[in-house]
Amino acid sequence: MDLQLRILHFTSIEPHRRFTKMDTKNPKSLLDLAIQSLLRNESVAIQALEDMPRLFFVPLFIAAFKGGHKNILSEMVKVWPYYCLHIGSLTVQEPQHELLKAMIENLPVRPSRNSASRRPKLKILDLRQDNDCRTTCHEVSIKEPLCFHSCAYSDSSILKIEGQHGFVNPESMVQFPRPVELLVDLSLDGSLVEKEFLVFLTSKIRESSGSLHICCRDLQVDKLCDSKCTLKLLDLKCVGQLSIDMGSLSDITNVLSQMDHLESLSLSKVTFRSLGGKVFKNFLGHLQRMNNLKKVSLSSFCLTGHLDRVLRVLPPGLNFLYLTYCDLSHRDFRFLAQSPQVSRLKLLNLSNNPMYWDDFEPFQTLLVNLSGTLRHLEINHCLINDTAISVLIPALIRCTHLRVLCFASNPITMPMLVTIMNNLTPLKKLKYVIYPIPVHCYEIWPFQGSLDRRKLAIVHLQLKVMLELAERADMNWITYLE
Ligand SMILES: [Zn+2]
Ligand SMILES: [Zn+2]
Repeated sequence: MDLQLRILHFTSIEPHRRFTKMDTKNPKSLLDLAIQSLLRNESVAIQALEDMPRLFFVPLFIAAFKGGHKNILSEMVKVWPYYCLHIGSLTVQEPQHELLKAMIENLPVRPSRNSASRRPKLKILDLRQDNDCRTTCHEVSIKEPLCFHSCAYSDSSILKIEGQHGFVNPESMVQFPRPVELLVDLSLDGSLVEKEFLVFLTSKIRESSGSLHICCRDLQVDKLCDSKCTLKLLDLKCVGQLSIDMGSLSDITNVLSQMDHLESLSLSKVTFRSLGGKVFKNFLGHLQRMNNLKKVSLSSFCLTGHLDRVLRVLPPGLNFLYLTYCDLSHRDFRFLAQSPQVSRLKLLNLSNNPMYWDDFEPFQTLLVNLSGTLRHLEINHCLINDTAISVLIPALIRCTHLRVLCFASNPITMPMLVTIMNNLTPLKKLKYVIYPIPVHCYEIWPFQGSLDRRKLAIVHLQLKVMLELAERADMNWITYLE
């Protein structure tokens, strides 16, 4: 132990710089050697934590996490000398789940009884993966520490609780439970792992006597009807990104009623009796309160003739809009083309809405209106034929920011595909095009069994030659089989 501590002291001049060096494949630094040596002997490492300079905690934490040293991590969380601890860019997969559990288990949620040990400083444990987040936030002041990711919305947040009691000095903390935040992204899929994890979280909340705030910013629910109990554990005000894969409109509305700050909403397989009743009205009422929405995704949500009612309540200036399998009508397209809510879209996905009509002018107007912002357009499986696409081409070529265009599985002929390519190759930012297999490659369009692969190979070749002639080797034209 002595030798290891000496190495630590020797390297204490610029530990961060040395650690950076280790990352850049330079020969191993003394700090790295010291850390590796500590990790080889867990009990020595745990003992050393008591007197270890603060600066060593971050590199030791990263190395212990990467090496899967559960016991060391458990002890580090107890004596972590900073206000916050973020997993940040560390990789979390199945094997690391035990490490996360150990960290939660040892997160100090009650005042320390042992005055001899390092007083717990950690108040925000952030288990979300985020490549732009450092392990701990830069401290401006040790007395009034701050974390850039602390909860700003819940009544159980540290900011609100400490605001109520005034600034709580560490001495008086002995009488009060410590307000602590655990930041997690949750994916509720009804699996055994999820159930175990929730039992575990519940017992931790109980242990904290209510001082632990589980702050979930990104919530994914597979089947809403199976997750109602779990949602009661959370303060839904904190959720910024919500995704529900299957649920009734009334249950979804109930969840939305508890939220205020959604930035992203994704609903799929939404069931309801009618769009004429109270439930849909309530749903729209709560949607209207979400002034921060930037991304809306509605899929398998039959909105025929009612899209205007949804769009009207959304804030203007959405960035991302997905309306797949929504059975949109010509009337819906007419409204979409004029809606200020979608006038600044970067991404629009209208795939799987069959367009039976002959009048493509509203769609053309929509594309012209979006030409200044649109980067990604998907219109796969829309029954768009040669006549329709020829109306859209003049609008498409005005979309000079377009990077991705997907229009697979539409009944397009080879001459039209050639025309499309000739028109799109001048769009310098357009890099990826997913094109439909031309109808002549099928005996009966669009049945996979009737596909003539030899004809398809000739199509590929022809498009490749055309791209070369247009000097667009940087452009990728690909298609896929169903
Ligand atoms: Zn922080
Ligand atoms: Zn929160």
